[in-house]
Amino acid sequence: MAQTVGSGNTGEAVHADRSGSPSSAGRADLHTHTTHSDGALSPYELIRRAHGLGLAAVSITDHDNVAGLDDAIEWGKSLGIEVITGLELSVTLGDKDVHLLAYFIDHRNQDLLDYLTFFRRERLKRAERIVQKLNKINVPLTMDSVLEQAGVGSVGRPHIANALLDEGLIETYHQAFERYIGTGGPAFEKKYQLTPADAFRLITSAGGLSFLAHPGKYTNELELSTLIKNGLDGIEVIHPSHDEKLQEYYKGLVNQYFLLESGGSDFHGGKKNDDHTFGTYTIPMQIVEIMRSRLFT
Ligand code: AMP
Ligand code: FE
Ligand code: FE
Ligand code: ZN
Repeated sequence: MAQTVGSGNTGEAVHADRSGSPSSAGRADLHTHTTHSDGALSPYELIRRAHGLGLAAVSITDHDNVAGLDDAIEWGKSLGIEVITGLELSVTLGDKDVHLLAYFIDHRNQDLLDYLTFFRRERLKRAERIVQKLNKINVPLTMDSVLEQAGVGSVGRPHIANALLDEGLIETYHQAFERYIGTGGPAFEKKYQLTPADAFRLITSAGGLSFLAHPGKYTNELELSTLIKNGLDGIEVIHPSHDEKLQEYYKGLVNQYFLLESGGSDFHGGKKNDDHTFGTYTIPMQIVEIMRSRLFT
Protein backbone atom coordinates (compact mmCIF):
# COMPACT_ATOMS: atom_id res chain seq x y z
CA MET A 1 0.00 0.00 0.00
CA ALA A 2 1.46 3.34 -1.01
CA GLN A 3 1.09 6.15 1.46
CA THR A 4 1.27 9.85 0.84
CA VAL A 5 3.92 11.75 2.67
CA GLY A 6 3.99 15.32 1.46
CA SER A 7 7.50 16.64 1.06
CA GLY A 8 6.28 19.76 2.85
CA ASN A 9 9.28 21.92 2.27
CA THR A 10 8.79 21.87 -1.51
CA GLY A 11 5.01 21.87 -1.40
CA GLU A 12 5.03 18.88 -3.75
CA ALA A 13 3.41 15.56 -2.78
CA VAL A 14 5.64 12.50 -2.83
CA HIS A 15 4.92 8.93 -1.88
CA ALA A 16 6.40 6.69 0.77
CA ASP A 17 6.51 3.21 -0.67
CA ARG A 18 5.72 0.38 1.69
CA SER A 19 4.80 -2.04 -1.04
CA GLY A 20 8.15 -3.72 -1.62
CA SER A 21 10.89 -3.87 -4.16
CA PRO A 22 9.42 -3.42 -7.65
CA SER A 23 9.04 0.35 -7.28
CA SER A 24 12.08 1.10 -5.15
CA ALA A 25 14.03 2.83 -7.97
CA GLY A 26 14.79 6.45 -7.08
CA ARG A 27 14.25 5.59 -3.43
CA ALA A 28 16.45 5.48 -0.36
CA ASP A 29 16.59 3.46 2.86
CA LEU A 30 18.36 5.57 5.46
CA HIS A 31 18.37 3.17 8.41
CA THR A 32 20.27 -0.13 8.23
CA HIS A 33 22.64 -2.14 10.43
CA THR A 34 25.58 -4.37 9.55
CA THR A 35 27.97 -6.74 11.32
CA HIS A 36 29.73 -3.60 12.62
CA SER A 37 26.91 -3.36 15.19
CA ASP A 38 23.98 -5.75 15.66
CA GLY A 39 23.18 -6.48 12.01
CA ALA A 40 23.68 -9.87 10.37
CA LEU A 41 25.01 -8.77 6.96
CA SER A 42 28.45 -7.38 6.16
CA PRO A 43 28.50 -3.97 4.43
CA TYR A 44 29.18 -5.79 1.13
CA GLU A 45 26.21 -8.15 1.60
CA LEU A 46 23.96 -5.26 2.58
CA ILE A 47 24.89 -3.17 -0.47
CA ARG A 48 24.50 -6.18 -2.75
CA ARG A 49 21.01 -6.77 -1.36
CA ALA A 50 20.16 -3.06 -1.76
CA HIS A 51 21.25 -3.37 -5.38
CA GLY A 52 18.99 -6.39 -5.84
CA LEU A 53 16.10 -4.35 -4.45
CA GLY A 54 16.82 -1.49 -6.86
CA LEU A 55 17.49 1.14 -4.19
CA ALA A 56 19.21 4.35 -5.32
CA ALA A 57 20.74 5.21 -1.92
CA VAL A 58 21.33 3.56 1.44
CA SER A 59 22.64 4.84 4.74
CA ILE A 60 24.39 2.45 7.11
CA THR A 61 23.58 3.54 10.65
CA ASP A 62 25.44 1.16 12.93
CA HIS A 63 25.19 1.75 16.69
CA ASP A 64 28.27 3.66 17.92
CA ASN A 65 30.30 2.58 14.89
CA VAL A 66 31.26 3.95 11.47
CA ALA A 67 33.71 1.17 10.59
CA GLY A 68 31.45 -0.34 7.92
CA LEU A 69 31.15 2.83 5.88
CA ASP A 70 34.34 2.73 3.80
CA ASP A 71 33.59 -0.78 2.50
CA ALA A 72 29.98 0.14 1.83
CA ILE A 73 30.94 3.31 -0.06
CA GLU A 74 33.38 1.35 -2.21
CA TRP A 75 30.84 -1.40 -3.04
CA GLY A 76 28.17 1.24 -3.53
CA LYS A 77 30.36 2.92 -6.18
CA SER A 78 30.87 -0.32 -8.04
CA LEU A 79 27.14 -1.18 -8.00
CA GLY A 80 25.81 2.35 -8.60
CA ILE A 81 24.28 2.92 -5.16
CA GLU A 82 24.92 6.08 -3.18
CA VAL A 83 26.01 5.32 0.39
CA ILE A 84 25.17 8.15 2.77
CA THR A 85 27.38 8.14 5.83
CA GLY A 86 25.37 7.40 8.96
CA LEU A 87 25.46 6.45 12.62
CA GLU A 88 22.99 5.65 15.43
CA LEU A 89 23.69 7.03 18.90
CA SER A 90 21.75 6.50 22.15
CA VAL A 91 21.07 9.46 24.42
CA THR A 92 19.36 9.84 27.76
CA LEU A 93 16.21 11.96 27.82
CA GLY A 94 14.69 12.04 31.30
CA ASP A 95 14.54 8.36 32.18
CA LYS A 96 14.34 7.25 28.55
CA ASP A 97 16.92 5.81 26.19
CA VAL A 98 16.33 7.72 22.94
CA HIS A 99 18.05 6.94 19.64
CA LEU A 100 19.47 9.58 17.30
CA LEU A 101 20.51 9.09 13.69
CA ALA A 102 23.37 11.11 12.22
CA TYR A 103 23.64 11.62 8.46
CA PHE A 104 26.30 13.05 6.13
CA ILE A 105 28.93 12.91 8.87
CA ASP A 106 32.64 12.97 8.11
CA HIS A 107 33.28 9.40 9.27
CA ARG A 108 37.00 10.08 9.52
CA ASN A 109 36.58 12.95 12.01
CA GLN A 110 39.06 12.08 14.77
CA ASP A 111 37.02 13.53 17.61
CA LEU A 112 34.02 11.46 16.50
CA LEU A 113 36.15 8.30 16.17
CA ASP A 114 37.57 8.80 19.68
CA TYR A 115 34.10 9.18 21.20
CA LEU A 116 32.81 6.12 19.35
CA THR A 117 35.73 4.03 20.64
CA PHE A 118 34.84 5.19 24.16
CA PHE A 119 31.11 4.36 23.69
CA ARG A 120 31.99 0.88 22.41
CA ARG A 121 34.24 0.25 25.42
CA GLU A 122 31.40 1.28 27.70
CA ARG A 123 29.11 -1.14 25.83
CA LEU A 124 31.58 -3.95 26.45
CA LYS A 125 31.71 -3.18 30.18
CA ARG A 126 27.91 -3.08 30.28
CA ALA A 127 27.68 -6.48 28.53
CA GLU A 128 30.01 -7.87 31.21
CA ARG A 129 27.74 -6.48 33.93
CA ILE A 130 24.69 -8.02 32.23
CA VAL A 131 26.41 -11.43 32.02
CA GLN A 132 27.33 -11.18 35.73
CA LYS A 133 23.71 -10.38 36.59
CA LEU A 134 22.51 -13.32 34.50
CA ASN A 135 24.97 -15.66 36.20
CA LYS A 136 23.76 -14.46 39.61
CA ILE A 137 20.22 -15.55 38.74
CA ASN A 138 21.54 -18.92 37.53
CA VAL A 139 21.55 -18.25 33.80
CA PRO A 140 24.94 -19.69 32.82
CA LEU A 141 25.78 -17.41 29.88
CA THR A 142 29.46 -16.76 29.20
CA MET A 143 30.99 -13.53 27.95
CA ASP A 144 32.79 -15.58 25.28
CA SER A 145 29.51 -16.60 23.67
CA VAL A 146 28.36 -12.95 23.66
CA LEU A 147 31.64 -11.85 22.05
CA GLU A 148 31.31 -14.59 19.46
CA GLN A 149 27.94 -13.12 18.47
CA ALA A 150 29.27 -9.57 18.38
CA GLY A 151 32.35 -10.31 16.25
CA VAL A 152 33.81 -6.95 15.21
CA GLY A 153 30.55 -5.14 15.96
CA SER A 154 29.74 -2.87 18.91
CA VAL A 155 28.22 -5.15 21.57
CA GLY A 156 24.53 -4.72 22.30
CA ARG A 157 21.62 -6.51 23.90
CA PRO A 158 20.69 -8.20 20.58
CA HIS A 159 24.02 -10.10 20.76
CA ILE A 160 23.19 -11.18 24.30
CA ALA A 161 19.73 -12.31 23.14
CA ASN A 162 21.29 -14.29 20.28
CA ALA A 163 23.83 -15.88 22.62
CA LEU A 164 21.08 -16.90 25.09
CA LEU A 165 19.15 -18.40 22.19
CA ASP A 166 22.13 -20.31 20.74
CA GLU A 167 23.03 -21.69 24.18
CA GLY A 168 19.46 -22.98 24.53
CA LEU A 169 18.83 -20.78 27.59
CA ILE A 170 15.66 -19.28 26.06
CA GLU A 171 13.24 -20.43 23.37
CA THR A 172 12.72 -17.22 21.40
CA TYR A 173 14.76 -14.07 20.76
CA HIS A 174 12.12 -11.89 22.44
CA GLN A 175 12.17 -13.97 25.62
CA ALA A 176 15.62 -12.53 26.32
CA PHE A 177 14.07 -9.07 26.68
CA GLU A 178 10.85 -10.22 28.36
CA ARG A 179 12.59 -12.36 30.99
CA TYR A 180 16.00 -10.81 31.53
CA ILE A 181 17.47 -7.85 29.66
CA GLY A 182 14.50 -5.62 28.77
CA THR A 183 14.18 -2.26 30.60
CA GLY A 184 13.71 -2.98 34.31
CA GLY A 185 14.39 -6.71 33.84
CA PRO A 186 16.50 -8.65 36.38
CA ALA A 187 19.62 -8.45 34.19
CA PHE A 188 18.98 -4.98 32.74
CA GLU A 189 21.90 -2.55 32.73
CA LYS A 190 21.94 1.02 31.48
CA LYS A 191 24.23 2.19 28.74
CA TYR A 192 26.67 5.06 29.12
CA GLN A 193 24.52 8.17 29.59
CA LEU A 194 25.12 10.67 26.81
CA THR A 195 23.12 13.91 26.87
CA PRO A 196 21.29 15.01 23.70
CA ALA A 197 23.26 18.29 23.72
CA ASP A 198 26.59 16.41 23.73
CA ALA A 199 25.40 14.09 20.97
CA PHE A 200 24.28 17.04 18.79
CA ARG A 201 27.63 18.77 19.36
CA LEU A 202 29.48 15.64 18.29
CA ILE A 203 27.35 15.17 15.16
CA THR A 204 27.54 18.86 14.21
CA SER A 205 31.29 19.02 14.66
CA ALA A 206 31.58 16.02 12.31
CA GLY A 207 29.51 17.99 9.76
CA GLY A 208 26.36 15.88 10.07
CA LEU A 209 22.61 16.28 10.55
CA SER A 210 20.80 14.84 13.60
CA PHE A 211 17.50 12.98 13.41
CA LEU A 212 15.28 11.51 16.09
CA ALA A 213 15.11 7.77 15.30
CA HIS A 214 11.82 5.83 15.46
CA PRO A 215 10.05 8.06 18.01
CA GLY A 216 7.12 5.62 17.92
CA LYS A 217 4.51 6.12 20.57
CA TYR A 218 6.99 7.07 23.21
CA THR A 219 8.18 10.57 22.39
CA ASN A 220 5.86 13.38 23.46
CA GLU A 221 5.94 16.96 22.23
CA LEU A 222 7.68 18.25 25.34
CA GLU A 223 10.54 15.81 24.81
CA LEU A 224 10.62 16.72 21.15
CA SER A 225 10.83 20.44 21.89
CA THR A 226 13.74 19.78 24.27
CA LEU A 227 15.54 17.98 21.45
CA ILE A 228 14.76 20.74 18.93
CA LYS A 229 16.09 23.40 21.33
CA ASN A 230 19.29 21.39 21.65
CA GLY A 231 19.83 21.15 17.89
CA LEU A 232 17.70 18.38 16.36
CA ASP A 233 17.45 18.71 12.56
CA GLY A 234 14.76 16.18 11.75
CA ILE A 235 12.56 13.21 12.59
CA GLU A 236 12.50 9.69 11.18
CA VAL A 237 8.92 9.63 9.88
CA ILE A 238 8.99 6.35 7.94
CA HIS A 239 9.89 3.34 10.12
CA PRO A 240 8.36 -0.15 10.57
CA SER A 241 7.18 0.81 14.07
CA HIS A 242 5.10 3.71 12.68
CA ASP A 243 1.64 2.96 11.37
CA GLU A 244 -0.08 5.41 9.01
CA LYS A 245 -1.41 7.47 11.93
CA LEU A 246 2.02 7.88 13.52
CA GLN A 247 3.56 8.73 10.15
CA GLU A 248 1.00 11.49 9.74
CA TYR A 249 1.53 12.69 13.31
CA TYR A 250 5.30 13.03 12.90
CA LYS A 251 4.94 14.49 9.41
CA GLY A 252 2.73 17.14 11.01
CA LEU A 253 5.39 17.92 13.63
CA VAL A 254 8.06 18.11 10.92
CA ASN A 255 6.04 20.78 9.14
CA GLN A 256 5.08 22.59 12.35
CA TYR A 257 8.68 22.93 13.58
CA PHE A 258 10.34 23.33 10.14
CA LEU A 259 12.27 20.11 10.56
CA LEU A 260 13.62 17.65 8.01
CA GLU A 261 12.14 14.18 7.56
CA SER A 262 13.87 10.86 6.99
CA GLY A 263 12.94 7.21 6.83
CA GLY A 264 14.20 3.67 6.59
CA SER A 265 13.70 0.05 7.52
CA ASP A 266 16.01 -0.27 10.56
CA PHE A 267 16.93 -3.57 8.88
CA HIS A 268 19.13 -5.86 11.00
CA GLY A 269 18.70 -9.26 9.31
CA GLY A 270 19.46 -12.63 10.90
CA LYS A 271 17.45 -13.82 13.89
CA LYS A 272 15.48 -10.59 14.04
CA ASN A 273 13.48 -11.92 11.05
CA ASP A 274 13.00 -8.47 9.57
CA ASP A 275 14.08 -9.27 6.00
CA HIS A 276 10.73 -8.10 4.62
CA THR A 277 11.40 -4.54 5.85
CA PHE A 278 14.47 -3.86 3.68
CA GLY A 279 13.41 -2.05 0.50
CA THR A 280 9.88 -1.66 1.86
CA TYR A 281 10.29 1.32 4.20
CA THR A 282 11.87 3.89 1.94
CA ILE A 283 11.83 7.58 1.12
CA PRO A 284 12.08 9.25 -2.30
CA MET A 285 15.44 10.66 -3.33
CA GLN A 286 13.82 14.15 -3.37
CA ILE A 287 13.76 13.99 0.43
CA VAL A 288 17.45 13.00 0.50
CA GLU A 289 18.18 16.04 -1.68
CA ILE A 290 16.30 18.30 0.75
CA MET A 291 18.45 16.90 3.58
CA ARG A 292 21.60 17.47 1.53
CA SER A 293 20.67 21.07 0.78
CA ARG A 294 20.38 21.74 4.54
CA LEU A 295 24.11 21.00 4.82
CA PHE A 296 24.92 24.13 2.88
CA THR A 297 22.71 26.55 4.76
P1 AMP B 1 21.24 -1.77 23.21
O1 AMP B 1 21.66 -0.67 22.27
O2 AMP B 1 22.34 -2.69 23.54
O3 AMP B 1 20.50 -1.25 24.42
O4 AMP B 1 20.18 -2.64 22.40
C1 AMP B 1 19.04 -2.03 21.91
C2 AMP B 1 18.43 -2.91 20.84
O5 AMP B 1 17.85 -4.05 21.45
C3 AMP B 1 17.29 -2.20 20.14
O6 AMP B 1 17.74 -1.46 19.03
C4 AMP B 1 16.42 -3.37 19.71
O7 AMP B 1 16.93 -3.93 18.50
C5 AMP B 1 16.65 -4.40 20.79
N1 AMP B 1 15.56 -4.38 21.80
C6 AMP B 1 15.41 -3.55 22.84
N2 AMP B 1 14.30 -3.85 23.56
C7 AMP B 1 13.75 -4.92 22.94
C8 AMP B 1 12.57 -5.71 23.17
N3 AMP B 1 11.77 -5.47 24.21
N4 AMP B 1 12.32 -6.72 22.33
C9 AMP B 1 13.15 -6.98 21.28
N5 AMP B 1 14.25 -6.28 21.01
C10 AMP B 1 14.55 -5.25 21.81
FE1 FE C 1 20.04 -2.34 16.58
FE1 FE D 1 17.27 2.38 17.19
ZN1 ZN E 1 18.56 1.20 14.29
